[in-house]
Amino acid sequence: MKAHNPLDNSQLLSLFVAQSNDGYAIFDEKDEVKYVNQSCAQMLLETTTGNILGKTFAQIMKESYYENRGIKVNTNNIDRWLTCVSRRRWRSTFRSFEIDLRNGGWLLVSEQVIGGKFIFLHATDITRTKRLEQELLRSQSKLLEQAYKDDLTQIANRRAFMERGTEEIKKAHRHQKNLVMFLLDIDHFKHINDQFGHSAGDSVLISITSLIQLQLRSYDIFARIGGEEFALIFSDTDTQTAVNIVERIRKLIEKANFQFEDKSIQCTISFGGSLLLDSDDLGSIVSRVDDVLYLAKKTGRNRVEFS
Ligand code: GH3
Ligand code: MG
Ligand code: MG
Repeated sequence: MKAHNPLDNSQLLSLFVAQSNDGYAIFDEKDEVKYVNQSCAQMLLETTTGNILGKTFAQIMKESYYENRGIKVNTNNIDRWLTCVSRRRWRSTFRSFEIDLRNGGWLLVSEQVIGGKFIFLHATDITRTKRLEQELLRSQSKLLEQAYKDDLTQIANRRAFMERGTEEIKKAHRHQKNLVMFLLDIDHFKHINDQFGHSAGDSVLISITSLIQLQLRSYDIFARIGGEEFALIFSDTDTQTAVNIVERIRKLIEKANFQFEDKSIQCTISFGGSLLLDSDDLGSIVSRVDDVLYLAKKTGRNRVEFS
């Protein structure tokens, strides 16, 4: 049998590094590239090993910056960026960081300073996991947004009202500011459903919501807290201003003709409101306002009652 020369460990290691899909590079104390494998040249800089060997870190980075390839460098002053990064590279014995590339990819890079004389760089492609992570973050924030939104009207839901309401009340107490709350309930809404159908009812709920929203300021809180029940919170607003706003809304609704298919639907809303008291929390003011709303219903509907 023909004997062949077995490779020793350092030869094996060299082969492994040269052929690896991961990137490897070694910088010497002058910050010049002493070694770089093919994957590293390709992944980090979209170039060949020959174009990198012997050059300094600064030279390489500048070239790729001006030639728009490889690592994405977010700066409009490459020299300042290089001064900053070059100093950081030699300061700690081990650094690990993610970088994004101009081609949309991502790399996990580590730099290890050995004996204060060399930097060993290792880079691995994490594009797939990074994309997955970004996708997850996007869908997580979308889900979170939906958890606080009412499906039908797309305004804040009951959960959002409870959380933001609690926050606003705390703020009002802390800064000794006025806070006015109203609960709104559509009058005889059951009749609308009975007469025109449930889809017509849904459409009226959507139209009423848009109409009310147009009358509010961006910082007012408006939420659908039940089927045909809504809540309004006016922070840092005096009673008269808040009453004027809801009175204007009441009149607009009363006059409006909501169109659904070939039908024209009219409806009214009853309002109950109250000013936040020093002793109030969300529960106590909601319960008081609910009683005031009940009074508005009992005394004829299509009314604004204020305690
Ligand atoms: P009141 O003036 O006393 O408030 O009378 P009302 O008929 O509005 O009051 P009630 O609470 O008895 O009925 C509310 C109705 O609202 C009953 C329910 O079918 C309807 N409703 C609740 N949620 C929705 C919804 O999302 N879409 C539609 N179309 N109707 C809904
Ligand atoms: Mg109701
Ligand atoms: Mg009702």
